[in-house]
Amino acid sequence: MPASASVIRMAFKGRRRAREWKTIEAMIHLFCRDHHHPDGDLCVECDELRSYANHRLEKCPYGDSKPSCVKCPIHCYKPANREKIREVMRYAGPKLLLRRPILTIRHLIDDRKKLPQLPRRRASS
Ligand code: SF4
Ligand SMILES: [Zn+2]
Repeated sequence: MPASASVIRMAFKGRRRAREWKTIEAMIHLFCRDHHHPDGDLCVECDELRSYANHRLEKCPYGDSKPSCVKCPIHCYKPANREKIREVMRYAGPKLLLRRPILTIRHLIDDRKKLPQLPRRRASS
């Protein structure tokens, strides 16, 4: 039984965000399995991080042309969650390359794309 049943609000229609979502989700599962819940269910903390990341991705003002969050000038993550997701990525990134090489390589290619212009609504605020 999962530690908590978070409701993931949307399936991302845009390819870029759908790919990013698959990658983030896979990394969080890998991290949690190796650090918290070896049975494969997410612990409460990782499940919350997963919901939070989903919400940020859903609300990303760049939409499907989003840059890598690392390069993003908006930095919409709360500092504590930003630190958590960094920790997850540091640990799970190299492991995911072995397990899901195509997904990881596409994610790395996405991360190298040029920073798009700020969406108009945000650029003036
Ligand atoms: S950090 Fe930037 S790119 Fe990442 S989800 Fe937030 S606004 Fe979008
Ligand atoms: Zn966990």
